[in-house]
Amino acid sequence: MTTFTILFAVSLVALIVRFIYNSKVKKSGFEVPEVFPQTWRDFLDQEIQFYKELKSEEKLQFESDIQRFLKRIRITGVKTSIDDEDRLLVASSALIPIFRFPEWEYKSLCEVLLYPDLFTEEYDFNGKDRSISGMVGSGGVMNNVVLFSKPALRYGFDNKSDKKNVGIHEFVHLFDKQDGNVDGVPSVIMRHQAVLPWLDLINKNMKEMLAGKSDINIYGATNEQEFLAVVSEYFFERPKLFKQKHPELYEALSSVFQNDLANR
Ligand SMILES: [Zn+2]
Repeated sequence: MTTFTILFAVSLVALIVRFIYNSKVKKSGFEVPEVFPQTWRDFLDQEIQFYKELKSEEKLQFESDIQRFLKRIRITGVKTSIDDEDRLLVASSALIPIFRFPEWEYKSLCEVLLYPDLFTEEYDFNGKDRSISGMVGSGGVMNNVVLFSKPALRYGFDNKSDKKNVGIHEFVHLFDKQDGNVDGVPSVIMRHQAVLPWLDLINKNMKEMLAGKSDINIYGATNEQEFLAVVSEYFFERPKLFKQKHPELYEALSSVFQNDLANR
């Protein structure tokens, strides 16, 4: 093969790669900026309490985590348009629980879908009896997808005191799923000897919740996985209050997420 032929082949391959890349960017209509935009930073400061309270070098880490997340995960609006703020809310929801695990990737996730409103188990967002604001997809093509109602996702961050955040809730389910099971026990992180005490703690708290003696959202008493997701919302949104009211749970969650949020 002559040098010319080799050069020609290499250029051809480069052209094809470029073409595929461009068509992908066109398809999603979004390219992640290489330099983190100031408008994004301002938005995070205003909307994401978790980010706002980070030290400046940690903010830089959060920003580069966002860029990495958005490069890997497609975010698609279904019958609704999406903008950079929606993308930042999705990425923040995903990154807050795993902030202390810089190498973490949600292995099972490929795409996040944003719906215009609440939806049903059949992904219907028009008919009656729609009550779902977020969901980890399961079965067939939905296996690698997380879905949100766009207004509900936004409301989770707008209301900073209600101990609820659907974005964090669903990504904690995915965090839990990393070991293969959504069961309220994140075994990838939790040491073996911590599992039984954790299950006991869940049990004890569920009893209090069902007896109306707890300020934890009663939905968390549905089962162990919902318990983990619900208390995580509380932990990340109101860490100081959570520590004060539920010191044992606070200790357990700060160990799971490697983050002593109430004391920063
Ligand atoms: Zn849930």
